Amino acid sequence: MTTVEEASYALSKIVDAGSQKSVIDLGWIKNVRITSPRSIITLALPSYANSQRDRIVKEVREILLNFNDIDDVQIELDNSSPEATSSEANTPQLQDIKGIKKIIAVSSGKGGVGKSTIAVNLACSLSKLGLRTGLLDADIYGPNTPSMLGVSEENPKVHGSGNEQRLIPIEKHGISIVSMGFLIEEGQPVIWRGPMLNSIIRQFLYQVEWNNLDFLVIDLPPGTGDAQISLAQSVPIAGAIIVTTPQKVSLQDSRRGLAMFKQLGVPLLGVVENMSVFIPPDQPNKKYEIFGNGGGELLAYENNLPLLAKIPIEMPVVTESNLGVPISISEPNAKSSIKFQELAILVKSKYLS
Ligand code: ADP
Repeated sequence: MTTVEEASYALSKIVDAGSQKSVIDLGWIKNVRITSPRSIITLALPSYANSQRDRIVKEVREILLNFNDIDDVQIELDNSSPEATSSEANTPQLQDIKGIKKIIAVSSGKGGVGKSTIAVNLACSLSKLGLRTGLLDADIYGPNTPSMLGVSEENPKVHGSGNEQRLIPIEKHGISIVSMGFLIEEGQPVIWRGPMLNSIIRQFLYQVEWNNLDFLVIDLPPGTGDAQISLAQSVPIAGAIIVTTPQKVSLQDSRRGLAMFKQLGVPLLGVVENMSVFIPPDQPNKKYEIFGNGGGELLAYENNLPLLAKIPIEMPVVTESNLGVPISISEPNAKSSIKFQELAILVKSKYLS
């Protein structure tokens, strides 16, 4: 007669499409009971895995019916677990991404403050330090890093099939790049919400052939929506960087973003103030505070965080980026490039010393 151990072992071959972990190890299938010819299992899927339910149920049936003495499979649904139980809901299970040492998330309270510019240039500057670096553009609402890096025409290859499918990052400027922009046609609105968004983000994180990276820099969408929460609850973010501008009056969004990370228990690395001063190209020794001053300092001070960098406004940041080359690569001696390099050194020394 088939034993519970034999049945559980066979069922452990079923894996979560995202993390590739066994559904038995994840606790998604439990209470395996065999009284041949009957078998009963309990299926306890977290909400982000609901989209996998039909496949898992089908595989459970196939596996159990394969035993000679089993001809009936009953599946009980346990909607209260694993994430719905209150203690676990507060401590979501973080899953490492294979092949990645440290994850740095770059975030901002609102769009247009230069979050993607910081993420791209930080990734390039880490790579210039000889570190293996990846960039994940998770800004599903405006994935613009492919054009900043000159790879918007690229189509990443996919290896394997079914659950084994893996996206191969595009290599450019010394970094491995994966972007939502590769999957979305330019100019198309993105209307993914809730569970669908969750599963797409998880796929993005776990079904990529990252090649032993020291750092993965994630460019998050702006604000405090589903995508940030889903990410923060899925992967162990080593540190989040909050990008803001110097205007004190518009700090409200940044405060909200920062509070969200605190609430989710994500460690905060610090604040980067972008567009601090304008440096005219024809008068590099002049500085104009066109967006005021003090916003970055104030946000950092209020939250007892370091102000990691103040990046000036320089025209080549825009012009070079429009040509697909980040300033830290095209003009390594520009003032902002030097600031990006210092930021990269700081990140390296904090996490890899
Ligand atoms: P976000 O990701 O926050 O929406 P982006 O990084 O896309 O912002 O930047 C918005 C625009 O501002 C882009 O055109 C970018 O080139 C420009 N920009 C960002 N930072 C700077 C800077 N330090 N100097 C000049 N232009 C900048």
